[in-house]
This record gives sequence, structure tokens and C-alpha cells, in this order.
Amino acid sequence: MLDSLVKFVREQYRTNEFIPLHAPVFGGNEKRYVLETVDSTFVSSVGAFVDRFEREMEAYTGSPRAVATVNGTAALHVALMLAGVKSGDLVLTQPLTFVATCNAIAYCGAEPVFIDVDKHTLGLSPVALERWLQEHAYLDVDGVCRVKSSDRVLRACLPMHTFGHPVELDSLIEVCGCWGLALVEDAAESLGSLYKGRHTGTFGCVGTLSFNGNKTITTGGGGMILANEALGGRAKHLTTTAKKAHAYEYVHDEVGYNYRLPNLNAALGCAQLEQLDSFIAAKRILAGRYQAFFEGSQFQFVVEPQGCRSNYWLNAVICENLMQRDELLAFSNQAGVMTRPIWKLMSHLPAYSKSLQGDLSNALWLEERVVNIPSSVVPELQV
Ligand SMILES: *Cc1c(COP(=O)(O)O)cnc(C)c1O
Repeated sequence: MLDSLVKFVREQYRTNEFIPLHAPVFGGNEKRYVLETVDSTFVSSVGAFVDRFEREMEAYTGSPRAVATVNGTAALHVALMLAGVKSGDLVLTQPLTFVATCNAIAYCGAEPVFIDVDKHTLGLSPVALERWLQEHAYLDVDGVCRVKSSDRVLRACLPMHTFGHPVELDSLIEVCGCWGLALVEDAAESLGSLYKGRHTGTFGCVGTLSFNGNKTITTGGGGMILANEALGGRAKHLTTTAKKAHAYEYVHDEVGYNYRLPNLNAALGCAQLEQLDSFIAAKRILAGRYQAFFEGSQFQFVVEPQGCRSNYWLNAVICENLMQRDELLAFSNQAGVMTRPIWKLMSHLPAYSKSLQGDLSNALWLEERVVNIPSSVVPELQV
């Protein structure tokens, strides 16, 4: 089985060289646009490509406003501030995520509370969330959600669309509504993924994207905040050192951040965005082939949840147990086909091990079994 998997992956990518988990594909106007910024001298925080990238991302996602940032973590940091997260607050999130999700919470002086995930989405479980809140939280006279034992404020809920597969948004929106929680979506991995026909990252009060080198499209490093007009305007202000518009004077009206995306990076992003639909088409064909390949095997290929269209950013299989997982990892990596176990749970990291947590049975189960397999766009499959 492992031998035929390695062969199968090599057939897809048509190479005997090392096959990474996710490499970018530059098959369009990347060089042309990047050189345009150099020729224009506008390589830094101001430039036409930044505006163009933001407007095109608004059109693509359907978000009223899109604000480009220097990376996805910075986007999340500002998104949480926009959602009202303050020092001492708590933010409900999933333990099965990339560390950036929790780091952004910590940058606000807040702390995560870990709630279990669902096995079919790999993302935050609305049932586990509701159950934890029923047991541990109350709404005070002002309608603020607080922890019973400490009276600490539970300000927001931050689900993450794991590997591009959307979480159960309808139910999460309902739970957040009942408990006065601001919903912020970490859509770093799910650019192009739809939940009931609508783009992930546009359901909560704020959403964020990432364009790191290993994501579905890349700007080298970069991110995006998706929000309504009012919060989007505030995001632009905060990420632009809180500078008031003025022809030549420096006027900054609060503590701001230098989180702007340089024009050089935005140029790369514009070229990549032109190919996004064909990238996703290719990724979905590859995912379909993997699904057929693993059918009836001891590995369960992770498929998009019902009612969703996933970008299949990273393909994943669920192994039967830890031993089988380790065999898969050892064999494939030895053979030059990169595979990687899912993240260690955030609740196991030194920085977050003392945070509140609910029952994490599913996350613990998945932590021992999920393996990512090569997922780069196969250029021949682009349509
Ligand atoms: C990639 C990613 C981010 C953002 O990462 P950056 O490298 O800062 O762009 C945030 N959350 C998740 C879950 C991610 O996968």
C-alpha cells in the first residue's frame, strides 16, 4: 500500500525528485507585475497593486471590504481587535490549528479557551461549544458572556477552516448569537472555499486570509482582513500606523501598527489571483484522484463536508492508529515524498497548556491519526 501510494503521487507530479507538501506555482503574470513595481519604484507600502489586490479580493470573496496585511497572523491580530478583544478577555477556539491562531489571541493580551473539533470538518464543533458554554458560562446583566468560576469575559469565538474544509458555520453563528460572542473566522487556509455557496471568511464580523508561501495563492508573505465598510475602514487605519490622511504632516491618532502589505508582494498576489480558479480546479481533480486511490484502504481520505465546496488546500488522510501513521510518515518521507502529521494540539504547547479547555476527545483522536500528503497544484490539471 505505502509503496503504491509513493508511486501514485510520483505519477501525479511526474517526477523522481523530492515532492514537497505544497509548493507555489508561478505560471502567469508574476514576473511581469513584480518587475512593473521595480520599474515604477513603488515597491513598498503604497502602490497601485495593493489597491488592485484589495478590490479584486473583495470581488472574489464578496466581502464589502478587504484590507491587505503583511501576513495572516497580523491580519488575525487586527481582526480580533476589531471584534473587541481586549487584554484579559477569553477567546473560544479549537486546539487543532496552526499556532498563529493562538498567537494572535495572545497578542491582544487575551487567552484561548480550547473547545473540541468535529471529525467530519476537523474544525470547531458547534455542539461542543454549546455544551461547554451551558456548563461553564453565563450572560451578565449587560448581556456579556462570562465564565461562571472567574467572571472573566468570553469575548469572541475563533473557528478555523482546517485544510480548506469549512466548519459548520450556521450552527456556530447561532451559538455565538445566543451567547453574545463575536464570530471571527480564521480563513487562512480556505481561500476559495464556499459554505452554502458563500465564501468562507465572510460569515463572521471579521475574517482573515493568508498568502504565505505554502498557501493556495502566495504573495511571498501576506494576509487579508475581510470585513464590512466600517470595520474595514478601521482595519485600514490600524494597519497603516493609525495615520490620519494629510498631504505631508504626520498625525497618528492612536497606537497603530505597520502591518501594510508592500506593493511588491501585492503584485505577486494579483498575478496569483488571476490563476486562483484554475488552481482550485486542479486541486479538486487531484483530491478526487486521491479519494479514488484510498477507497477501501485502511486510510480514510478527508473529503469536503456536505453543502460545502472546499479548496482542498492540503489533502489529508486519517490513519487507523498511531503506529500506522508513523509507518506512513517514515516510508513516504524516506522515499522523497513529503508527508507530515497534523499539528500538535495547541493545548500541548508550553505557551497555551494552562489555558481553559473542554473535553478534547476528537482533537486528541485526530492528533494521533491525521497525515497531510502532497497537495501542490499539478500544472497539467489546470483548466
Ligand atoms: C497560515 C495560517 C495563518 C497565517 O499565517 P501567516 O504565515 O502569518 O500568513 C493563520 N492561521 C492558520 C490556521 C494558518 O494555517
